[in-house]
Amino acid sequence: MNALRVAVVGAGIAGLTAAHAIRRHAAERGRPLELTVLDRDARAGGQLRTVAEDGFRIEWAANAFRTGRGPTADLLARLGLEGERVVASPAASRRYVFHGGRLHALPGGPSSLLGFAPLSLAGRWRVFAEPLLARRVAREESVHDYAARHIGREAAEVLLGTMVRGVYGGDARELSVDAAFPVMREMERDHRSLVVAGIAGARKRRLEGKATWSLRGGMGALMQRLADDLGDAVRLETTVTAIERPAAGPGYRLRVSQGPELEADALVLAVPPGVASGWLRPLAGELADEIATIAAADIAVAALAFPRGAFAGAPDGYGFLVAPGEPLDILGALFESNIFADRAPEGHVLVRVIMGGAGRDDVPRRSDDELVASATEAIDRAIGLRGAPDRVWVHRQPAAIPQYLLGHLDRVARIERLLTGLPGLQVAGNAYRGIAVGAIVADAEEVADRVLATAAAAHPAAASQQKATVTV
Ligand SMILES: Cc1cc2nc3c(=O)[nH]c(=O)nc-3n(C[C@H](O)[C@H](O)[C@H](O)COP(=O)(O)OP(=O)(O)OC[C@H]3O[C@@H](n4cnc5c(N)ncnc54)[C@H](O)[C@@H]3O)c2cc1C
Repeated sequence: MNALRVAVVGAGIAGLTAAHAIRRHAAERGRPLELTVLDRDARAGGQLRTVAEDGFRIEWAANAFRTGRGPTADLLARLGLEGERVVASPAASRRYVFHGGRLHALPGGPSSLLGFAPLSLAGRWRVFAEPLLARRVAREESVHDYAARHIGREAAEVLLGTMVRGVYGGDARELSVDAAFPVMREMERDHRSLVVAGIAGARKRRLEGKATWSLRGGMGALMQRLADDLGDAVRLETTVTAIERPAAGPGYRLRVSQGPELEADALVLAVPPGVASGWLRPLAGELADEIATIAAADIAVAALAFPRGAFAGAPDGYGFLVAPGEPLDILGALFESNIFADRAPEGHVLVRVIMGGAGRDDVPRRSDDELVASATEAIDRAIGLRGAPDRVWVHRQPAAIPQYLLGHLDRVARIERLLTGLPGLQVAGNAYRGIAVGAIVADAEEVADRVLATAAAAHPAAASQQKATVTV
């Protein structure tokens, strides 16, 4: 039987986990496989990158996992990385919001909500009334409309508006709750009330032992292990410039900037939507247009290392997010060395400041000095500084976070339907079915299933041969 030639373009978490799943699924089905993973970068990992310098460990994108079980934990077990887990400090469970010119602890339960000053008394009581007023709705809604229906307009603005800026760098009035936070729709479906669902969820999380955790070497260690495990299949510093369909026979031909072109029976495009749509335009214009409309926000990250004595009051907890409309030029700040003590050497505090987001693509275009100045000023206004950072690092990530706007789920359904016109070709990555690392890892299994199913349909001879081999 001829080996199935599969090319995965993009060695971010989506591409690497899809490649792993394809290899595993092919082996389970007894299907010989010729796998290639291509990335234009000199290093595998895409956005997930950990810089280790002089005792500091800095993440440029996700810094932690938040589910103790499920596909991510399974992946770690398969890679033999379970022993590398580090769990976040319990103190990092406290989170803050910058509102009205100062930090407020986010309420962790009913008693803290009573004292939560960013909401008026009426606003707080409206949250308490939620179990009485909540109802189920079947139509798609923005995150803001959904939250306002449940907990009132004021709490929707302050709590959900801030969370959407923190997770997506986006606007709660524009993002679809169904696409961006499907768990919220599930909570409504299962419990009607978000307050009731929140209480039930907290109990379940306690029972399942959910915690925030990472790896000793940071997210970069996971990406390195994924790439090492794929060995020679990974080809770095290889930019794909075009995709063609050979006139004769199924499959695809990839033109690359370095080395000879590559032929593949099946293809996974795990690159940002702007890149995938450019390649797909000559093959399937409508599909390319649908993918091109998925906008993504540019992000800049400034990591600031302060001597411990540089703060007027020590930074507490996980960090803080900035509420919409507040005059700080940042989305939020994470106190990395509070979360994982090994992220900074003794005597230092490492703060990661996230900037930019939807509608603020001017911010990541600023110079390094300007970004550091904005980040430092924001920390000063939020916590109070007596001294300057003594080390700084700046990273820009263009098109970092796709915006799941209203209509996103329908768009993805159209994309999946249009993909059936390109047998063996799949799209993966944070633009489609979840931006979180956990969602992307889970999606890799589906992508692998579809690649093997469509490839089998496009190569019926090989498929029936395989069946015969398995039966014998
Ligand atoms: C600041 C920040 C904080 C975040 N925090 C969290 C968090 O706490 N939790 C969480 O779950 N998620 C978080 N995320 C989101 C998460 O990190 C990303 O969604 C995820 O890493 C994206 O992975 P991906 O594989 O889809 O894309 P990418 O990592 O962007 O991978 C795409 C790959 O395609 C390659 N490529 C592009 N063009 C070409 C070409 N022409 N030829 C070959 N290769 C090409 C690129 O080099 C890249 O390696 C955060 C993101 C950011 C920016």
